[in-house]
Amino acid sequence: MTLSQAQIVELSECIARRLASLEDEIACRLGEKGAPLPRLGEMTGHGAAAGQTLLGDVDLTEALRGIDEWRELRAAQRRLEEGEYGRCIDCGVELPFEFLRDRPLAQRCVDCQWSPRRSRPAG
Ligand SMILES: [Zn+2]
Repeated sequence: MTLSQAQIVELSECIARRLASLEDEIACRLGEKGAPLPRLGEMTGHGAAAGQTLLGDVDLTEALRGIDEWRELRAAQRRLEEGEYGRCIDCGVELPFEFLRDRPLAQRCVDCQWSPRRSRPAG
């Protein structure tokens, strides 16, 4: 792999940070940590935007969406440990560091990501 040790460390820290904040978020939604909840008065100031979840209702759908990303982050962390990280899972090309730093969860190179290789001919 072409990533240097320092770059790997940086990426792994970036992923770890996202994991930590995501875990906080999920725990907060599920109320597991008993984390202090933001005051409702502060939230109403932002307007009743669609999708804004009011506390008191534990929104499992929202939480599960976070868990999906959490799983991907964990998988990326594992690939980092195994030295498999940063390689396109379709064509095997090594992804540039800048690309990975922007999107640590990327599993494909730009070509594979955007080429409609997997789409069905019908349609
Ligand atoms: Zn590729």
